Amino acid sequence: MNLEESRRRQYLAAMDIPLWERRTPRAASAAAVVSAVAASTDLGPEWQMLQDTVRTCTKCGLHKTRTQTVFGVGNPAASWMFIGEAPGADEDKQGEPFVGRAGQLLNAMLFAMGLKREEVYIANVLKCRPPGNRDPQPEEVAQCEPYLIRQIEHIRPKLIVALGRHAAHSLLKTEVPLARLRGQRLSYHGIPLVVTYHPAYLLRSPGEKRKAWEDLVLAKSVMAAA
Ligand code: URA
Repeated sequence: MNLEESRRRQYLAAMDIPLWERRTPRAASAAAVVSAVAASTDLGPEWQMLQDTVRTCTKCGLHKTRTQTVFGVGNPAASWMFIGEAPGADEDKQGEPFVGRAGQLLNAMLFAMGLKREEVYIANVLKCRPPGNRDPQPEEVAQCEPYLIRQIEHIRPKLIVALGRHAAHSLLKTEVPLARLRGQRLSYHGIPLVVTYHPAYLLRSPGEKRKAWEDLVLAKSVMAAA
C-alpha cells in the first residue's frame, strides 16, 4: 500500500467511514492545488494589512495571555470556508488554526469530502487563545468579530461551514441549539452556511461522527448548487 492510500485509510477510519463506501473521486487535482497556492501568494495589500492589524491587536484581554495570534490558513480565494471557535494550546504555539488533535480530525473530514486543507480557508471566531481553553466571552467575540467579517468579505466563499456551537451562534446571532441548526442550508448575509459539530466534540463523542458526515454531505450538495 502506498503512502497516499495508507493516509486515505487513516483519514477515513478517523471519520468512522467504512472503506467499502462508494465515493466519487475526491482528491483535488495537482493543478487545483497549484492554483490555490498561487492564489495564496497574491494576497493584496488589504489582506496583508488585516493580518498585521490582527497580529498586533490588543482590543481585548486575551492579548495578555496569548503566545501569538492565529489569523487563519489556506487559500484566501477559497470557495469553502470553515470557521471554528478559538485557538487551543497547539494553535497558540504554532500560529495556525486546527493543528492539534481536532485539526487532524478536521483534515480527515476535509479529505473525506474530497478537499485539501490548502484549498479551503480555515479561521476561527477568536484569533487568540482563551486561557485554559475556556469558552469565548461575548466581549471577546464582539471585539474580534470585525476581523472575521473582513476575512469573509475578502474571501467571498461560496459556502461557510460553522464548526460547533460557538461558531454557529456567533455567525448566526442566535442561541438556537446546534442540534436544531444542523441539517439545513442557512445563510450568513447571503452566503450559504451549514452547521456541523466541532471536531473536538467529535473526538469526545465519536458516535456523532455519522451525523457530522451527513452534515458534510449536505454541505457538498449546497456547494454543488451554489
Ligand atoms: N478549536 C478551534 O475551534 N479552533 C482551532 O483552531 C483549534 C481548536
